[in-house]
Amino acid sequence: TTRIERHHYDVVVIGAGGAGLRAAIEARLAGKKTAIISKSLFGKAHTVMAEGGAAAAMGNVNSRDNWQVHYRDTMRGGKFLNNFRMAELHAKESPQRIWELETYGALFDRTKDGKISQRNFGGHEYPRLAHVGDRTGLELIRTLQQKIVSLQQEDKAEFGSYDARIKVFAETTITELLLDGDRVAGAFGYYRESGEFVLFEAPAVVLATGGVGRSYKVTSNSWEYTGDGHALALRAGATLINMEFLQFHPTGMVWPPSVKGILVTESVRGDGGVLKNSDGKRFMFDYVPDVFRKQYAETEEEADRWYTDPDSNRRPPELLPRDEVARAINSEVKAGRGTPAGGVYLDIASRKSAEEIRRRLPSMYHQFKELADVDITKEPMEVGPTCHYVMGGVEVDPDSGAAAGTVRGLFAAGEVSGGMHGSNRLGGNSLSDLLVFGKRAGEHAARYVDELPARPTVGVTAAEAAVETALAPLNRETGESPYKLQQDLQAVMGDLVGIIRRKGELEDALVRLAELRERVAKVSATGGRRYNPGWHLALDLRNMLVVSECTAKAALEREESRGGHTREDFPTMVPDWRKVNLVCSLDGEKVHLAHQPLPKMRAELIQLFDRAELAKYLTDEELADFDALTQ
Ligand code: FAD
Repeated sequence: TTRIERHHYDVVVIGAGGAGLRAAIEARLAGKKTAIISKSLFGKAHTVMAEGGAAAAMGNVNSRDNWQVHYRDTMRGGKFLNNFRMAELHAKESPQRIWELETYGALFDRTKDGKISQRNFGGHEYPRLAHVGDRTGLELIRTLQQKIVSLQQEDKAEFGSYDARIKVFAETTITELLLDGDRVAGAFGYYRESGEFVLFEAPAVVLATGGVGRSYKVTSNSWEYTGDGHALALRAGATLINMEFLQFHPTGMVWPPSVKGILVTESVRGDGGVLKNSDGKRFMFDYVPDVFRKQYAETEEEADRWYTDPDSNRRPPELLPRDEVARAINSEVKAGRGTPAGGVYLDIASRKSAEEIRRRLPSMYHQFKELADVDITKEPMEVGPTCHYVMGGVEVDPDSGAAAGTVRGLFAAGEVSGGMHGSNRLGGNSLSDLLVFGKRAGEHAARYVDELPARPTVGVTAAEAAVETALAPLNRETGESPYKLQQDLQAVMGDLVGIIRRKGELEDALVRLAELRERVAKVSATGGRRYNPGWHLALDLRNMLVVSECTAKAALEREESRGGHTREDFPTMVPDWRKVNLVCSLDGEKVHLAHQPLPKMRAELIQLFDRAELAKYLTDEELADFDALTQ
């Protein structure tokens, strides 16, 4: 039999981004023996790449900001499809989580009077993003890692070992969750370098594996983001919601081809950058949808005054939520008004001094200089939409992060979970989401362990089956290359399940995904187990495929356009669809889709909105309920 290294923990956290680290800290603070596992190097996660900042209604720059305003903005951004309780907890708890980071040693940029500075971002009514230049994620991760080191030092003093209660397993990929009946019993995976197998026995697992972007050709996501957590959850009996909603960030690099998709932070627009087409026109004024018309400037003059006097002017339309801007760019390019490389222009050079651009956007300055030989202090950037973030994810209990479905002991936080952002996430709301729900998942995973009458155990056959599945691509003599299969999958998703969707194309996508499923079942990787990226990709493909099927199925089912789901054949929002979550589960190997009513917003929350605004989203019946409340 194949050797398997075994470890025992109370809580295993899969993923070392912001959500995973924050969850692990909380589980360890609750006294639990905690493992942190990450597919890539420790410290390399999407969280590190986050540039703009973390949204929290601290009211430091505009004292009118508070959790209620943040809550409203989040619900609007998500087009009222958000899980209201998650949006509420997020708006209320984000400031505490940011201040707490300071106690861990985080150094945010400051206002003149020494408070944490906050910057403007799309969809946020007031300056709200706590930031460190355009490298906020790096500071967030640095701080959380530092906190983990300090906890390890405490453990060394108390138990004689740094790893006594919290240990990091970097470059370790989890391929299966193991169950004992309906309870999580452990996680199985391999070390990237040696290809050796490892089994973590644990009664509680927190999924914090981030997104799914690698199923798309043009994406801001890096190689690890193959929807592993989403797929692990499904196979363990948990459910996914909102998988049709993908965020295409409006501004990715479009040139040179080798860097296509790499993110250009929204801070460029937050700091005054404007979008222009090939005629030199600032086109976003033509794309303000009715639901947002009252909040956005109608002239360039008003928009420009807003940067210095936001109280008496309305915001520039470049700062509409991301879905709106991405669609607008898509339309301009389609209408033949794009740049040579198929994007539009993003101009900060003509709007800010070179010195200011270099100070406020240092990473962007270097990124364009090094990757595209463009000096953004002198020339405009060429940008276009890129697959960036998945709103959908593991369906969770809002307060605890416990996964819904048939499995117990499984928790999820961060991008891998669904519900918080509804149909569209506001920029900056992810970093705060990680902290708020990472903490909660860690706390509740610990509590779950405390309340367990008996520990689940991992059966021998389950571990053997996991080994067999993992080795299968290496053992096949013939079969297709995983790289070719990934390319084909990316083409299906990019071409047929992209920004603008149509019934016929989605049906076609499902046929092709079914064919791909057969081909992936026979994928073959050459070489042995030692550092073999082809083998790793062969294992990832299984995850990408099942998650893509959920997305395509849900996209076909939802006959309306909302947030990160645009149907050319159903171009408007339909109030009846707002009441529906599409829930994905696995029935054997088959993806099953069900309609589920959205939880109803509590009275004191719905009363934070004007009737006129609610009328744009709610059904007549829901409006009648609202009227009854307010009379
Ligand atoms: P991640 O930080 O994505 O970490 C996932 C972890 O899971 C990694 O450690 C990975 O190795 C691990 N993992 C995955 N699969 C496995 C497996 N099978 N086994 C073991 N480990 C696994 N959001 C904002 O709010 N503000 C911003 O300014 C911002 N800018 C962004 C810029 C870029 C370029 C990108 C890509 C995203 C940005 N976002 C931003 C979004 C935000 O960064 C992410 O949504 C967020 O960081 C996700 O955090 P997470 O903790 O859920 O997961």
